[in-house]
Amino acid sequence: MTTQSTSRIGILTSGGDAQGMNAAVRAVVRTALDRGVEVYAIFEGYEGLVQGSDFIRPMDWDSVGGIIHRGGTIIGTARSEAFRTRAGRLQAARNLIERDIDSLVIIGGDGSLTGANIFRQEWSGLIAELVEKGEITPEKAQAHPHLRIVGLVGSIDNDMFGTDMTIGADSALHRITEAIDAISSTAASHQRTFVVKVMGRNCGYLALMGGLATGADWVLIPENPPAVDNWREVMCARLKAGRQAGRRDSIVVIAEGARDRYGNYIGSTEVANTLEKTLGEEVRVTVLGHVQRGGAPSAFDRNLGTLLGHAAVETLLSADPLSEPQLIGLRGNRITHSPLMECVEKTHAVAEAIQNHDYETAMNLRGTSFIEAFQTLLTMLRVLPHPPQEGQRRLRLAVIHAGAPAPGMNAAVRAAVRIGIDRGHIMLGVRNGFPGLAEGAIQEMDWMSVNGWASRGGCELGTSRRVPSGADFYAIARAIEDHQIEGILMIGGWAGYETAYQILTLRDNYPAFNIPIVCLPASINNNLPGSDLSIGADTALNNIVEAVDKIKDSAVALRRVFVVEVMGRHCGYLALMSGLSTGAERVYLHEEGVTLKDLQADVEALNYGFKHGKRLGLMIRNENANDVYDTPFMCKLFEEEGRDLYDVRQSILGHLQQGGNPSPFDRIQATRLATRSINYLIEQVESGSGQSAFIGLQGKEIKFHNLEDFPRMVDLKFQRPKQQWWMDLRPIARLLAQPGPKNQFETRQ
Ligand code: ADP
Repeated sequence: MTTQSTSRIGILTSGGDAQGMNAAVRAVVRTALDRGVEVYAIFEGYEGLVQGSDFIRPMDWDSVGGIIHRGGTIIGTARSEAFRTRAGRLQAARNLIERDIDSLVIIGGDGSLTGANIFRQEWSGLIAELVEKGEITPEKAQAHPHLRIVGLVGSIDNDMFGTDMTIGADSALHRITEAIDAISSTAASHQRTFVVKVMGRNCGYLALMGGLATGADWVLIPENPPAVDNWREVMCARLKAGRQAGRRDSIVVIAEGARDRYGNYIGSTEVANTLEKTLGEEVRVTVLGHVQRGGAPSAFDRNLGTLLGHAAVETLLSADPLSEPQLIGLRGNRITHSPLMECVEKTHAVAEAIQNHDYETAMNLRGTSFIEAFQTLLTMLRVLPHPPQEGQRRLRLAVIHAGAPAPGMNAAVRAAVRIGIDRGHIMLGVRNGFPGLAEGAIQEMDWMSVNGWASRGGCELGTSRRVPSGADFYAIARAIEDHQIEGILMIGGWAGYETAYQILTLRDNYPAFNIPIVCLPASINNNLPGSDLSIGADTALNNIVEAVDKIKDSAVALRRVFVVEVMGRHCGYLALMSGLSTGAERVYLHEEGVTLKDLQADVEALNYGFKHGKRLGLMIRNENANDVYDTPFMCKLFEEEGRDLYDVRQSILGHLQQGGNPSPFDRIQATRLATRSINYLIEQVESGSGQSAFIGLQGKEIKFHNLEDFPRMVDLKFQRPKQQWWMDLRPIARLLAQPGPKNQFETRQ
């Protein structure tokens, strides 16, 4: 291994701005400071690197305070023609060497990362030239023989290899779904058709996922152009048939890079004109444009930026300067490292495949989730399902909720019903959970009965948190027999898992219970086994983050501490993740417990901070973190001990966390999981094996667990899984909220 200790780290954001870049900058700066490394921000991207002077500035703990919730990038970004030239890069090298910076974190798109790699390759030549010209001393050159770089992808397009998600894509998807939801309601009122154009360059991710999340009627993406030449007629006929079937609005989503299979770009105006002529009605075009880059970053992007930024510094500090530069990404919810240039090359390969009209390769390069999402979309936007096959045995499958409502439940029902019907089966909706099933509140659902459900919050079928007991099971068994139910999809939370498990164990007592049940995790608490995330948790997290942003705004002019109580029952997911994404200084979790000693240390830290200029304290507390040291107690304690340094307010967020339209992530995962669940259920009934299971997202994969494993995988007393992956993030949340020993004398927040 070549030794070169990292002297100073530089960070820059480049290319298009993206929400979540600030979180990454904050994490890079604070992680570096915590590790005792000085860190410089390079303002205005490569342009600032070439210009030097005041564009390159040292950062301290506070210089990245209060930025995590801001869109864009506080250190600026720019396109730089100068950096494309060797002369520009020579100047850039001099500016870095002068300041003893030889490690860079670059956050940008494929162009920016390519530029960084060229710079790194040229480094030794550049410094030799600088020595020769007398611009730097040979000692300086010797001290920094190599440039270390680490790349993070900041791009709303989600177009990059080496990461499931790029920083900014989720927030852009939020803007797109909000816009399409809003357009849908006006379109429905006037029975109008809208053509919506979204960004994405060569990547159809935003259009595809935006279409899937909003229940759009037609979607055009670059990777998979319409297969037939007369696609315009097919599209018009489909939209017309949709109207006849009862749809009040029609939405066509076009990716900016969409083209036909001969490579001709498909314009939104052209599509609108075609539709207007054929359908004989007004068609409106909305080009979403820069709105997609705007607004506050979503909770996901804040956490993504934070985790990637933290990992970037760790990687830089441990990297052999001669090894391949790495791109840091996310797969599932794990941080990954991949060779930077390989990722850039594969990214270019998609663009080339599209250019060469090789759409199969383009789709394959995008990966299986993308292909699966596209196929699901094709089914979802059908006007009518495929008719049952002749002689096919039509199964009777029921969909039921249990537990508290979770945003995204309706999207899951919509997908389950449509996939089931499309495969020729009869789908039954059960009203009001298991008590409803016991009462026989069951009705057949048709294709249009779930129209518009993708974006709807709440829970249209109704749910119940009651876990049946005793005679209830008899009534449930009767209802299953009376309605000849052959399989059940339970979309819900803990109460649903518990009930499904009981039904499984009562098979000997009730022959009717010998049917497969699939549990789909839907709970804002994210407390279900076998799944990294449950449907609804992302929406709840965003609801919390939005509320806390407002709370913080309300307090800036005052010296105040907020104790914010969030839901989760005994599961700390929402508390920890919202703490991470709002920059809270303290998070209280039931998993860790709360002691008097902890509280005393917190009081001392608060008092110290406020004495040194701090203006806002944010403490996030899980609702059941500790029964005795509850929220009012903690507020009183801080108030008393803070004296006139600050005042204290409590904010118990309550049910706003469960409300509102589901986030795009929840809609998309609900659709994915429900599609897989119904296919699994059909397989179990048809094969006669009748296995009950719970489905979950594990990393990038979707997996099923035998329902028999439920008690083994959970802590029954506190109703949460034994393994909680997100607890690994605890140290990072702590590190970023509080200055380490080296920064003790800085103020906080
Ligand atoms: P993105 O990073 O979002 O793909 P660009 O392609 O516009 O955005 O690149 C941003 C900046 O990165 C450019 O303005 C330029 O300064 C630098 N850059 C891009 N490609 C190269 C390259 N091949 N060589 C040197 N610098 C480059």
